[in-house]
Amino acid sequence: MTTIAFIGLGNMGIGMATNLAKAGYDVRAMDLSEDAVANAVKAGCKAAKTTKDAVGEADIVVTMLPAGKHVRTVYMGEDGVFAHAKKGALFIDSSTIDVPTARDVISQAEEKGFSMIDAPVSGGVGGAAGGTLTFMCGGKKTAYDQAKPVLDHMGKNVFHAGEAGNGQVAKVCNNMLLGIHMIGTCEAFNLAEKLGLDAQTFYDISSTASGQNWSMTSYCPAPGPVPTAPSNKDYAPGFAAGMMLKDLRLAQDAASTARAATPLGAQAEALYALMESAGKDGLDFSGVMKLIKGSL
Ligand code: NAD
Repeated sequence: MTTIAFIGLGNMGIGMATNLAKAGYDVRAMDLSEDAVANAVKAGCKAAKTTKDAVGEADIVVTMLPAGKHVRTVYMGEDGVFAHAKKGALFIDSSTIDVPTARDVISQAEEKGFSMIDAPVSGGVGGAAGGTLTFMCGGKKTAYDQAKPVLDHMGKNVFHAGEAGNGQVAKVCNNMLLGIHMIGTCEAFNLAEKLGLDAQTFYDISSTASGQNWSMTSYCPAPGPVPTAPSNKDYAPGFAAGMMLKDLRLAQDAASTARAATPLGAQAEALYALMESAGKDGLDFSGVMKLIKGSL
């Protein structure tokens, strides 16, 4: 039986680890939080107290951590994955992190004789629990091919985006675009309302005209037209504005390094930073509507 170490059992990781255990893998669950490990044990995983315990017998290591610095610590720290993993093990990092860290950790893993891909996700907590995530993977094709059957148990769409770090590139570019069209959609609905056009009528017209986009039709920031959208629950997340801000900051860092002009990405970052400074970054990211309306 294939043994998988799963490190990072937070909002996303717990659902993903649960799906691997359900699929019949021997999953060794590790997190700094004892409660998180206890949840994973309830879901069919085995508890691991340390990274060493988790990865010692693992054929595959999956990590789902907050940011690049945690990924560096977990893989390259003194008692980390590199120090204790089996020879030739495969590593899959699904955290959303900066491109340079992803490329550096993968290159160091390869130098030590391991295989590794970056495999950030889109689909949120619901997608993690339901096994319907989209995985965007970067790294050698051989490592991707080896990871694919495992990723198929956690996701519905799995893409190979090319070289190491390209999964992170796809993720930040996608989320920068998402932030921009969410804000644009809020502006359009707010302007329509101020000019006397109600949200449902504007939706009916624009969703079949050229303004149509995902933020409008799947996640409408104006209450009413899309019943499942967070706007109908006073913007309870969903995908929190603070998570969007994290991704927009990663996009701006990457844009600065690559010398790519992203004026609207920069504006989107500034608006979500205002939500953060107002203490409202726990709202869903479509709650930027409140900022546009002046009612945050
Ligand atoms: P989270 O904060 O809920 O979970 C992270 C977990 O990592 C925590 O349980 C924490 O204790 C653990 N951790 C931190 N450092 C550790 C260490 N050194 N060793 C072991 N465990 C450690 O975060 P999340 O919402 O699950 O997100 C995880 C990643 O997925 C992030 O990079 C995030 O950007 C990305 N992501 C999140 C969502 C979402 O909707 N939540 C969607 C897509 C992508």
